[in-house]
Amino acid sequence: MTSDRTFIIVGAGLAGAKAAETLRSEGFDGRVIMIGAEQQRPYERPPLSKAYLRGEAERDALYVHDDGFYTANNVELRLGRTAVHLDTSIRQVALDDGTWLRYDRLLLSTGAEPRRLAVPGEALDGVFYLRSVEDSDAVRERLDRGGSVVVIGGGWIGTEVAASARQRGLEVTIVNPHSVPLERVLGTEVGSIYRDIHGDHGVRMLMGTRLAGFRGATAVERVRTDDGRELECDFVVIGVGVEPRTTLAARSGLYVDDGIVVDEHLQTSMPDVFAAGDVAMTHYPSFGHRLRVEHWANALHQGPIAARNMLGGSDVYDRVPYFFSDQYEVGMEYAGFAGTWDRVVFRGDPATREFIVFWLAGDRVMAGMNVGVWDVSEPIQQLIRGRVSIDDRRLADPDVPLEQLALIADPSAA
Ligand SMILES: Cc1cc2nc3c(=O)[nH]c(=O)nc-3n(C[C@H](O)[C@H](O)[C@H](O)COP(=O)(O)OP(=O)(O)OC[C@H]3O[C@@H](n4cnc5c(N)ncnc54)[C@H](O)[C@@H]3O)c2cc1C
Repeated sequence: MTSDRTFIIVGAGLAGAKAAETLRSEGFDGRVIMIGAEQQRPYERPPLSKAYLRGEAERDALYVHDDGFYTANNVELRLGRTAVHLDTSIRQVALDDGTWLRYDRLLLSTGAEPRRLAVPGEALDGVFYLRSVEDSDAVRERLDRGGSVVVIGGGWIGTEVAASARQRGLEVTIVNPHSVPLERVLGTEVGSIYRDIHGDHGVRMLMGTRLAGFRGATAVERVRTDDGRELECDFVVIGVGVEPRTTLAARSGLYVDDGIVVDEHLQTSMPDVFAAGDVAMTHYPSFGHRLRVEHWANALHQGPIAARNMLGGSDVYDRVPYFFSDQYEVGMEYAGFAGTWDRVVFRGDPATREFIVFWLAGDRVMAGMNVGVWDVSEPIQQLIRGRVSIDDRRLADPDVPLEQLALIADPSAA
């Protein structure tokens, strides 16, 4: 080892693991310590509501790296340990076993955790949240037993769990305060397509309905809704969004808003401290504002950028946000960010479940989603990046290749 510097990564998820990998692949030969509160080495979470939950994938398939990777790359993994204090004035991190570790550069990749619902009966047996592999194991064990489940929340986690439970033959009810599933991101017009997909698969949907609480002796037996209904069930899965894990950063005086605030280099408000992944609220030069993205691709790509900048680089993170979801036989990819929009434009017939939809504000494409149509995410992202005016009719016309429109938007892609 020629460098006596120590780089510490707090949070052994996807962002942290990709950062550690990049530090080594870029030639850093100092000490790399990765601290992870979970007992598992870094793993990917998307299968936890899909194939892994249904029992169609092995745990080994989840891990970001094989077992020997960390030893082979001299990455010191401290698993089952939580960083409880950060003192940036002396560049030290304290762990929950009392150890203090000194760093030269620090990455906070502490991720996010499920938003909890403070309703009566939330602590009853059989009420589950879904974030970790152990959570998924517990829900999977209930799927094995069959019966009926009530899913609270019609976001991505809720709808994916509902789909997996139906695929395993359970009776499924979704309770959702909005008028359609996924309304917050997709809006009512596109969300209603997902309502129909779930309806076609036999999911009972109570939309515009709020949760009032759970009833049961020791385990949940019924879900109470705000309109006075009582839904019998064998168990409940709650998926009502996540909160960034910012406590450590906030207590240490880092600038925290809805996440740890970082610039386009993923640098926090403190020198030598970086943040990446679900926890980072990143300044996007192309959007001109900050955004916290809670998706797999963001963790995958921010980890390496943070690592390169910890090594003294000045890489900018400005990727178009991207995520995917698989429900039943319907796969989709979504790119962009549309906080508000004034219309949606379809390319293809949504009824066929093979179509592309664009969200537009003025004459600009803010976001696009391809459902059952593949290898189009790159031109869609170019359209979003390009910020040029595109005629709605050409956008909707399947005979006009997207690549052609993307070239208008981004001539450098030619
Ligand atoms: C069930 C499920 C399904 C998903 N499906 C999709 C999908 O289909 N598509 C998609 O794009 N995204 C999906 N996601 C989101 C995606 O998994 C996340 O965006 C990604 O995991 C973020 O990675 P991360 O490394 O930033 O954080 P995390 O994966 O949350 O990892 C952070 C780690 O840091 C640890 N930690 C936190 N605080 C401390 C501390 N103080 N000390 C030590 N360790 C600490 C945590 O225990 C955790 O292990 C899904 C998520 C879940 C839960």
